[in-house]
Amino acid sequence: MTTEPIRDDLAAIPRYVPGKALPQALKLSSNEVPYGPLPGVADAIAAAAADVHRYPDMGVARLRDELAARLGVDAGRIATGTGSVALIGHLLQAVSSPGGEVVYSWRSFEAYPIAATVAGLRSVQVPNTPEHGHDVDAMIAAVGPNTRAVILCSPNNPTGPALTADEIDRVFDAVPESVLVVIDEAYREFVTDPSLPDGVERYGDRPNAVVFRTFSKAWGLAGLRIGYMVARPEVADAVRRCVIPFAVNGPGQAAALAALAAEDEMRRRVALVTSERKRVVEAARDVLPEVPQTQANFFWLPLGARAVEFASHCEKLGILVRPFAGDGVRVTIGLPEENDAVLEALRSFAA
Ligand code: PMP
Repeated sequence: MTTEPIRDDLAAIPRYVPGKALPQALKLSSNEVPYGPLPGVADAIAAAAADVHRYPDMGVARLRDELAARLGVDAGRIATGTGSVALIGHLLQAVSSPGGEVVYSWRSFEAYPIAATVAGLRSVQVPNTPEHGHDVDAMIAAVGPNTRAVILCSPNNPTGPALTADEIDRVFDAVPESVLVVIDEAYREFVTDPSLPDGVERYGDRPNAVVFRTFSKAWGLAGLRIGYMVARPEVADAVRRCVIPFAVNGPGQAAALAALAAEDEMRRRVALVTSERKRVVEAARDVLPEVPQTQANFFWLPLGARAVEFASHCEKLGILVRPFAGDGVRVTIGLPEENDAVLEALRSFAA
């Protein structure tokens, strides 16, 4: 019998499993972009290094002002944190109440159940559609008097589809304003379907909308841990109260500003990724026709019981992908030759 004063419910939370990293292997397991930092970023970090004996600007003023100007919102509506994963946790802490629930699609981002439990909320997981997207009607039906938030992951990690404007509109129209509608747009920059909504643009004025974005993916700063969210000022302020002081460090703030200044290059790189995505998904469907459409920088192989076996097969070939046991495998779009290696692995696995 253990006597440590540790919460019982923690043992039940699945651990966050990071994408594997092995030297020499092709790393297609964490949805990073395959290019180095954007131009100007390394210099900005080097310049900021001179000040690391000082605490950074806790209010992250310059970065928030720059984001606010770009998004056309007041800086008071933006909160920043140590990656959007930390901010999602803080948002759930900010809305937590005894018996409170959070509704989200499943399978989706593996941090949601962790963040929910840590925040003291019960997870209500609604199964994805057969096309691996959100079942919006079932999600709406799952909202009840204890619901504090509904999370929409668009595009959905790890399966790829994004929600349509009609689907998100229906959620907003169906739930009371006391329920936050959280749109996690970590992969927004990779969306190429022009009919799909931009969460800030379309829903920013809804009082219960919260949109999450990150510098980790398209902006190439995963290692520095910078995420942000846009919400009504009261919600952003509540989240800021929960954020650990100085959550975004000085080199990170400088790097994010430098990355924003290199937006053209970011867009050029994203275009390379999305054109590869089209090619790779088409080729993967020749082997596995059930590969769903994707608007992110990864695609989903619904291999079911063979998911882990395929990941091991890839690893033997020096390629790291991300298996979800019994369900499927998420593969990040990399450089053309890396994608060719994955396609070859898929063909040899199926043969
Ligand atoms: N949301 C989604 C859907 C993600 O896939 C990720 C990263 N895997 C995050 C949020 C968190 O990203 P970060 O903490 O690096 O900003």
